[in-house]
Amino acid sequence: MSLDRCSTCNEIVWKHERRPHECKPVFEVNYEPWYGEDEWQEVFAYDHEGAAEKWGDDSDSNSGEYDIVSGKSSPVVKVRKKGEDEIQEWVVTGEAVPQYSAERAVWCAAKGCITKADEYRLRFLDIDEIPHCQTCFRRVKDEQKSQQ
Ligand SMILES: [Zn+2]
Ligand SMILES: [Zn+2]
Repeated sequence: MSLDRCSTCNEIVWKHERRPHECKPVFEVNYEPWYGEDEWQEVFAYDHEGAAEKWGDDSDSNSGEYDIVSGKSSPVVKVRKKGEDEIQEWVVTGEAVPQYSAERAVWCAAKGCITKADEYRLRFLDIDEIPHCQTCFRRVKDEQKSQQ
């Protein structure tokens, strides 16, 4: 599976997906303190809310300041669907969610070795599908070589 970005909406698309990729509708976002009254930024979204969120995400990552997600600013933006007259106002806020992840611990299976993969961040190598830490792997390989 290779993945790519849509050249129009920049969304990640899977090249071999069964359904062809369709861009989300175009919305326009105006944040007056930055753009003035008449400059609108195009974003692809399903609705006004999504457009405001997408704009927040984009402007945070583009500026590299992350003022929204850090809670420093919560801009009020105007959002309209392209070609429509209705303008809605949305307050954009962000939240940094702590992320945790877990990985199954892998232990070196060589006799007497007590090395655990996640603790020592070692690369584990298989000998006959038995995980060995790098040290044990090298030792076993050296032994095999000297026996030949
Ligand atoms: Zn697209
Ligand atoms: Zn080991």
